[in-house]
Amino acid sequence: MNSGERVTVKRESTANFSRLPARLRRLMNERICDVLWMMRASTAQAPVKRYVENLYEELAGAGLRNLRPEVYFGNEWFSPGGVPAIAMPFYLAHDDLREIELLLTGSVEGGTPSAMRKLLRHEAGHSFDHGYRIPRDFQWRSTFGRDPGVYRPEVYVPDVLSPDHVTHLPGHYAQAHPDEDFAETFAVAITPEMDWESKYRNRPGALRKLRFVRSLIRRHGSQGLREKTIVRTSDASRMRISLARHYEVRLMNEARWERQLRRLAASS
Ligand SMILES: [Zn+2]
Repeated sequence: MNSGERVTVKRESTANFSRLPARLRRLMNERICDVLWMMRASTAQAPVKRYVENLYEELAGAGLRNLRPEVYFGNEWFSPGGVPAIAMPFYLAHDDLREIELLLTGSVEGGTPSAMRKLLRHEAGHSFDHGYRIPRDFQWRSTFGRDPGVYRPEVYVPDVLSPDHVTHLPGHYAQAHPDEDFAETFAVAITPEMDWESKYRNRPGALRKLRFVRSLIRRHGSQGLREKTIVRTSDASRMRISLARHYEVRLMNEARWERQLRRLAASS
């Protein structure tokens, strides 16, 4: 950490983190990599390991035996661009970090077994996309739409009655961006026991997307991945910023997205 960051952290620590109990507040000026090291955090340990293995079983059950995305702790939920891997937020590594996340942001994304499984299926959709380098050909674009040019999935105003999108993650997230639409559709398509032909029979656009994704899964299911290189973007075990600085930036960004969203909603 450089001296400039230390000054900022000190100021923010007293301004924003007073709601944390003292035992958690003490952690805030530690670097994230050090916190995870101290906690011996690893996705290879329970309970995360169990969810990852469960995801692999679901993928195999859906016909994708060769897709086993590497899962690691990052700064948030995402799949690194072009890489068949999944980053899950580091706060899921330990109860103390979950508590900090809850107290500072009001929620813990992936904090329940159901949400964890849903998020893993969603990110597996991106990993499928990356691992098989699914082409953005005419059929893909006519199914999911053209790339809008900017990737800003935090700011969108959904049509809550859309017949063209599946519902999986909260907030009608399939409508955030065509790539998110693809990942959400994939997540529904691989959900065990999900009779999506029946569930979506009155949503013709969503059903068409599901059938397209199913055809892609069948086409690639028996193939090896085309992209195997793993790059751990935003690997939390290497994050040298403090917890305080991390939350300072996050809370600032989230406040900015909230303002943009309000403006967008007002103008639509
Ligand atoms: Zn996504």
